[in-house]
Amino acid sequence: MSRAARDSSITVIGAGLCGSLLAVLLARRGYRVSLIERRADPRHSPPAVGRSINLAMSARGIRALKHAGLFEAVESLLLPMRGRLLHEENGATELLPYGQREGELIWSVSRAELNRRLIEAADRLPGVTLRFGQEALAWDGGRGALTLRDIDEDRRYEVAVGPVIAADGAGSAVRRSLAAAGIVRADESLLAHGYKELAVPAGPGSAFRLQADALHIWPRGEFMLIALPNPGGDFTLTLFLPMEGLESFAGLDEPAGILAFFERWFPDIIPLLPELVGTFRRNPVGVLGTVRCRPWRDGGRLLLIGDAAHAIVPFHGQGMNLAFEDCRLLDELLSDHELPQAFVAFEDLQRDNAQAIATMALENYVEMRDTVRDPGFALQKKLSFELEKRMPDRFIPRYSMVMFHDDIPYAVARERGAVQARLLEELTRDRRSLDEIDLDAAVKKVCSALPPLA
Ligand SMILES: Cc1cc2nc3c(=O)[nH]c(=O)nc-3n(C[C@H](O)[C@H](O)[C@H](O)COP(=O)(O)OP(=O)(O)OC[C@H]3O[C@@H](n4cnc5c(N)ncnc54)[C@H](O)[C@@H]3O)c2cc1C
Repeated sequence: MSRAARDSSITVIGAGLCGSLLAVLLARRGYRVSLIERRADPRHSPPAVGRSINLAMSARGIRALKHAGLFEAVESLLLPMRGRLLHEENGATELLPYGQREGELIWSVSRAELNRRLIEAADRLPGVTLRFGQEALAWDGGRGALTLRDIDEDRRYEVAVGPVIAADGAGSAVRRSLAAAGIVRADESLLAHGYKELAVPAGPGSAFRLQADALHIWPRGEFMLIALPNPGGDFTLTLFLPMEGLESFAGLDEPAGILAFFERWFPDIIPLLPELVGTFRRNPVGVLGTVRCRPWRDGGRLLLIGDAAHAIVPFHGQGMNLAFEDCRLLDELLSDHELPQAFVAFEDLQRDNAQAIATMALENYVEMRDTVRDPGFALQKKLSFELEKRMPDRFIPRYSMVMFHDDIPYAVARERGAVQARLLEELTRDRRSLDEIDLDAAVKKVCSALPPLA
């Protein structure tokens, strides 16, 4: 425990994935943590409507949970996914493995259950006080005052607080109040596409009705449907679609139109979706966006973290993983720094990485919904695995750097990925199979373009 931490108190706003993990780490360091959450206690209430039901967890998230000593507490929630299982329009399917080395899998996890277990872990620590049903409205850094609203009593009140870490998510009220006061500049850019969740129920005896160990994708160019497995044998489906236009959520209102849309684009899934039209009309359309904010701090008094600082679109499955990495990095910095210095060092360390994964997540949407269908994509994937086999210290596919190599910063993955993409494009041009590529020459090209990884 650092000298500064002993007997110091800190307020964390938002008991979502990031805030609850952070509360555990800070309490273990000896801070007294007040964890303030707008929702009712999720351990005793159903999950909020409109949040994604399950998430893909990968190496960075797992590393942070292990760092916090919580991996064992959540391990039983994780379902392995070996690759993308593509569903073509003609009904054919193909599995594209995510990685090729031992353990290169990603994991489907229930957001609600993961959040509950993190909150339980925080609640078990003597230094943590949980306060549900309290909504942060505004922060006044000059006076060190937080304006809150007690939701049940609909009562506004102000509290004087010490340091604050705001983990109140993509729509962060704290970030917006800092922006209104001119302390940060924040750009919230909405994607022109939204999402809607549906479900494939389990078969008899909790049997999975689609292949269980894969992330299913129905790529259709401008839009896509995906499915992730849940432990009960059911799948959560997410339709990503433009908000406006010819094929769009705006255009899908009438029962006949909804059915015709699924019959045209996803006929194979219709038999697995009971009550398709009713569920489709009932479930909300979620919005997606990227938040770019600068700085993430109000001096040494307040830090934005997780989605509140840098929300990203979900197409690389990294928002939670990045938020968990934030928690680990901040905690590690607290070994050598007092809180205000740790805030500065954290932002210096993570800013470029957050920007890099924000861009890669947007790029991955095009890959998932469109490029995966291109035979050239499959050949580039094969070549990149081959190059990785021959030069594992120099060529690692960008997807693998992001998902499986928690020691490679996102910014490095993006930079090296851009060089690799140019090489792959050049080496596969006018080629149809690996046999047509001179692999020794390819190795030489890679060696002259990329230094070994640090
Ligand atoms: C459709 C979809 C799919 C996704 N899939 C993945 C995936 O596969 N893998 C992945 O890594 N990430 C994924 N993400 C991203 C991931 O959900 C987020 O990055 C992650 O939840 C961020 O955690 P957070 O704690 O910062 O924010 P949140 O999880 O949003 O938590 C914020 C918390 O703050 C509370 N809160 C909000 N406002 C206030 C307030 N004013 N006062 C008090 N409390 C407040 C909220 O109730 C909530 O509990 C996905 C996101 C979406 C939308």
